[in-house]
Amino acid sequence: MGLSTLNDRSRIPHDVRVRFLDLSIRDANYKAQLLAAVERVMDHGRFILGPEIDQFEKAVAAYCGRRFAVGVGSGSDALFLSLRALGVGAGDEVITTPLTWVATTNAIVLNGATPVFVDIGDDLNLDAGLIEAAVTPRTKAILPVHFTGQMCDMKTIMAVADRYGIAVVEDAAQAFGAEQNGRRAGSIGTLGCFSMNPMKVFNAFGEAGVVITDDSSLAEKLCSLRYAGTVNKEDCHWPSINGRLDTIQAAMLLVGLERVEAKIEARNRIAAAYKQRLAGLVGLPVEKLGFRHTWYSYTIRSGRRDALKAFLTDRGIETKVQHPFLMHRHTAYAGRLEAKVPKAESAVTEILCLPNHQDLTDKEMHLVAEGVRDFHGR
Ligand SMILES: *Cc1c(COP(=O)(O)O)cnc(C)c1O
Repeated sequence: MGLSTLNDRSRIPHDVRVRFLDLSIRDANYKAQLLAAVERVMDHGRFILGPEIDQFEKAVAAYCGRRFAVGVGSGSDALFLSLRALGVGAGDEVITTPLTWVATTNAIVLNGATPVFVDIGDDLNLDAGLIEAAVTPRTKAILPVHFTGQMCDMKTIMAVADRYGIAVVEDAAQAFGAEQNGRRAGSIGTLGCFSMNPMKVFNAFGEAGVVITDDSSLAEKLCSLRYAGTVNKEDCHWPSINGRLDTIQAAMLLVGLERVEAKIEARNRIAAAYKQRLAGLVGLPVEKLGFRHTWYSYTIRSGRRDALKAFLTDRGIETKVQHPFLMHRHTAYAGRLEAKVPKAESAVTEILCLPNHQDLTDKEMHLVAEGVRDFHGR
């Protein structure tokens, strides 16, 4: 199976028995709350930077344990604007992971800087022990990604950053609510970036993102940068994009925030059940002691990944490879960016994400586990 067909939905038969993710809202109470929130915005009419933006930012800052949150248009905006706020630009290097969604690398490149890729560990996250060797006089920031919903080793990352006076931008797009020794994802680095696109565990109903920080001047700068780089809404100080969060999304996110903990718990239960049923058959996700995993994805590893995926597809079980391209293998970057990342190179041929959303029924979960077991002749 070629890379391009890996996530091709046309391969899923019509009688899909287990969807990877079903975004339709079946909970009538939740739906009513969301609609009421939208109606309130329609009544006051402040669709851009309305009062719910401020409420949402305060709620996210409080949840994560930071002083400030700035709502932006998407996780991609969050990353792009964060690096911009730090003054990352031409000639600068940013240390990051080769295994992520391409928005992470794009944010670096679009600011004119150069990504420097460090290999991953068994948890699929940036191997923090390899970062120091990649630091050069040009290193301006470290951009770790809390991949699959489990945090990187932030303790080690911050130690290196502090030693060299380098900023840290956490890409916590997949890890809202994740923790390392009680500290929440996004709240440890200089800036923490989240996406609330509909795929994420804490999701909006369209594009949405947020940046958190304890630094008031960075928060202020981000407010300007999300609004064409203007000060007092009219005078542009720094050329920038329109990257504001919609009031309607913020209003709906405030409703969703109340449900995040329950979703994470539900995903934890599914992960525990998969662990029990799949142990010894496939490579299970590495769960680190002292970390709270939020299970954005339940990512297993298999030396026969493509065959396993095809087998499950034939049974009507939808799976995904997140993500099939390492950063330096994307068409835009092939031949332009280099990386010596043997562990990531092998991981990318083995990773497979099983359905693990919070509405997955026991029956569906059993079908998935049974599929994996049958593939292995058990
Ligand atoms: C989803 C995601 C992003 C981008 O977020 P959008 O809101 O889709 O722009 C960035 N980084 C990672 C790791 C992601 O998973």
